[in-house]
Amino acid sequence: MSTTTAHGAGDGAAPAVPPEGAPAGSPSGAPRPVLLDAAATTRCRRRVHLEHVPAEDLGPGGPPPGDDADPGVAMRKADAANHRAALAARWAELLGSRWVSVRPAPTARERATAAREVLADAVALPDVVGGVELPAAEGRRGHAEALVRAVPGDATSGWWPLIVVRHRITDPGEGALTSPLGQPHPDAAGPDDTRRVRTVTRDVLRLAHLHRMLRAAGLAPPEEPGAPVWGGIVGLDADVVVWVDLAASSAGAGGRSTLETYDRRHADRLAVAEAARSRAPALAEPSRITECRRCPWWSTCEAALRAVDDVSLVVRGDAALRLRGRGVTTVRELAALDPAEGLPGPPPDPEVPDGGFEVPDLVEAVALARAWSRDVPLVRRVVRPTVARGDVEIDVDMESLGEDGAYLWGALLSGADIGLEPGYRAFVTWDPLPTRDEGRSFGEFWTWLRDVRARCAERGLVLRAYCYNEQAENRWLRGSVERFAGMPGVPSAEEVEEFIASDAWIDLFPVVSESFLCPHGKGLKRVAPSAGFAWHDPEAGGENSMRWYRDAVGLDGGEPDPAQRERLLVYNADDVRATWTLRTWLTSERVLDVPLLTEL
Ligand code: SF4
Repeated sequence: MSTTTAHGAGDGAAPAVPPEGAPAGSPSGAPRPVLLDAAATTRCRRRVHLEHVPAEDLGPGGPPPGDDADPGVAMRKADAANHRAALAARWAELLGSRWVSVRPAPTARERATAAREVLADAVALPDVVGGVELPAAEGRRGHAEALVRAVPGDATSGWWPLIVVRHRITDPGEGALTSPLGQPHPDAAGPDDTRRVRTVTRDVLRLAHLHRMLRAAGLAPPEEPGAPVWGGIVGLDADVVVWVDLAASSAGAGGRSTLETYDRRHADRLAVAEAARSRAPALAEPSRITECRRCPWWSTCEAALRAVDDVSLVVRGDAALRLRGRGVTTVRELAALDPAEGLPGPPPDPEVPDGGFEVPDLVEAVALARAWSRDVPLVRRVVRPTVARGDVEIDVDMESLGEDGAYLWGALLSGADIGLEPGYRAFVTWDPLPTRDEGRSFGEFWTWLRDVRARCAERGLVLRAYCYNEQAENRWLRGSVERFAGMPGVPSAEEVEEFIASDAWIDLFPVVSESFLCPHGKGLKRVAPSAGFAWHDPEAGGENSMRWYRDAVGLDGGEPDPAQRERLLVYNADDVRATWTLRTWLTSERVLDVPLLTEL
């Protein structure tokens, strides 16, 4: 693998330029022009490369199945399509004659033709046009859920793009610029005193992409220095339109505006794709990053990384880039370093003496490399891990379906006798999400938890409740309180916050992070086997559980499947038993069998 080209990690790289003299075409003729969608600007550069390599160059396996082969991704796409369709129907109802929708068509080409035909007669159009596939141009393809005329009634004023997404785009707070759903125009927007913007990079870059496409088609409002360039977003709650000025400079992007960031990224990804398409030297090599976990190309990249013993197999992201910058390109070279002597070679930047590596980082990177080479699953960072234990203990795990709700709270009660049956119990709703019945099951869970807490307090016993990675549980604890306030058993926000902040609620994930280096990941399914735990179901996993759930409740129109309900209950019970096994192992003598950092 060449180390002279940029690696896949990192989104903010300066635009890459194809090397001079690169071959312009394939032996079989001129390559097809590259057209990128907006997602390419937030995608791994190597993935953009692989997606544009001529298929015959990929070897016998060819390209991997697309994202849609992943049932979780396919479900999320179907949910997003339903959400967009619901919004279009809502706008048709709210806007009446002020709304027109482009006729749907099976292919992007037909949709673009239909949109061109509609937009050609701008004088006759209302001020909001839905479902617009924009004409592909300048290396771009894409569609907007709606276009909004910049100056209502003025056929020559151009259009602002409006997109519909299925995630949250605001948080409680103030300052977001919003307009009512029935007035989707920036002129109708004002500062919102209940919401602040939750900026999602891929959303704002998609708006910039659409604005550039509109400009290429002569459909964008003129860009004037200092004037805003608007894009609108409707999120999961679908109750307002949030307006974003794409020309405003952003503190988090070195003062660059969204449009400037977008232009740099698009130029970079276009160069990567065109080099791949024309068989020029690759402008992006594989390097392990967070995105690899869910990338359909992982087996291709993993094979390439293993073939050269690439250092990113153990130290991913920017850390791998920094190591390569100091000449450490393989796991073997990293494992052979003496951390006390620092990194080899002169620092490329004298201002960053050790390539940005702090000494503890290097000690751990070297230990990870040694553990990887010797197939050691965990390395102890501390002499003895500590986990607060209680007289009474509960292990908790929640199951949710995307943004739709949390349908199952599982709890394993153990420890001193408090007059309640020890063991696992599930608080569940099998009404398809979203459903008010979720509030009933959450209320029952909280009533039980409140009772356990009260019984412990009466007896002077210490209660501890454990989960693994509290973000998901806390999110649905808070979300359930908000959505089901007033239902039987549902606590107040203050009661939930008091519990989350209390010593009784313990997240095991940071304990594992602080106690171990994990060459193969820190997920519960990676770590618990070292404590001796095995899941009953060989397919146990978050994405699969979502598929089981859909069958369990007949979410796609089929009959509810009781076998899948049982499977989910076993899966959830296993998850809480895994946390029980993990934490009891963490506080046992057996954990000392895990090699210490200094012993490798
Ligand atoms: S597996 Fe990782 S490096 Fe390879 S294309 Fe996917 S995200 Fe990029």
